[in-house]
Amino acid sequence: MKIPRSHPRYLSLVQRQLIEEGIAKGYVTPTGMIAHGRGEAFDYLLGERTTEPARRAEEAAVVELLRAQAPVISVNGNVAALCPKEVVELSKVISAKLEINLFYWSKEREEKISKILKQAGAGRVYGTGKKKKIPGLASPRGFVDPEGIYKADVVLVMLEDGDRTEALRRMGKRVIAIDLNPFSRTAQSADITIVDNITRALPNMIDMAKRMRRRRSGPPTRTKIFDNEKGLRLSIKEIQKHLSRAGSLSLEENSLGS
Ligand code: ATP
Ligand code: MG
Repeated sequence: MKIPRSHPRYLSLVQRQLIEEGIAKGYVTPTGMIAHGRGEAFDYLLGERTTEPARRAEEAAVVELLRAQAPVISVNGNVAALCPKEVVELSKVISAKLEINLFYWSKEREEKISKILKQAGAGRVYGTGKKKKIPGLASPRGFVDPEGIYKADVVLVMLEDGDRTEALRRMGKRVIAIDLNPFSRTAQSADITIVDNITRALPNMIDMAKRMRRRRSGPPTRTKIFDNEKGLRLSIKEIQKHLSRAGSLSLEENSLGS
């Protein structure tokens, strides 16, 4: 269906359609649609914008990714459906490997996502060959590329599962998560959580990385310690502020009507 640009929820409908197409083509799982719906709900509560705490987390994440020795971006079906070009571009600007890492793994899904990434301009795509097990995770969710995530020092994950995030942390990796739900286990256990939609966060991060690289002095040489707990509290406050603005409006309307 062609969605009219004038529709007030145009962007949201386009994203839904992309997920739907991903399911029809067999590389997004039906549970990917549920995960997307949960993300949409939180995005609504946030006001569908990049908040100030999210912007700060994005900046801290870009600094850390630019300074990493072996950064890897983990890609799943929803990421491939929603922003294949952006994820490939970010990997190039920050010199990170791209690895396909699926919760519900199948060779077919893996191949389809690899093809999408390559069509979007990716060079080598990791996670499609022999795998190594992340300690402490039941298979097949816990298998990663020995040359990719297994060896990485910093991993960027999106729409990730809490168990896997915790397992990566236990392996000594720094984990940066993009997750609209500040209450999820992923959000709570990552080193840096960006509470923003991947469709806004990735373009923001590309711009930030380009700007940092253009600076004559290069990207910042030291990472300030990022307080993730505080970042999450501030993101939750953004939801509260947004809700109380919307709430006070409807209270006024109520009193007018009575
Ligand atoms: P956890 O396992 O971390 O406790 P969960 O089980 O509640 O999380 P999952 O389905 O494992 O949720 O992960 C999907 C997460 O991705 C959800 O927290 C959801 O809010 C988030 N999400 C969905 N779509 C987007 C999006 N477009 N951008 C950012 N985050 C998203
Ligand atoms: Mg989960």
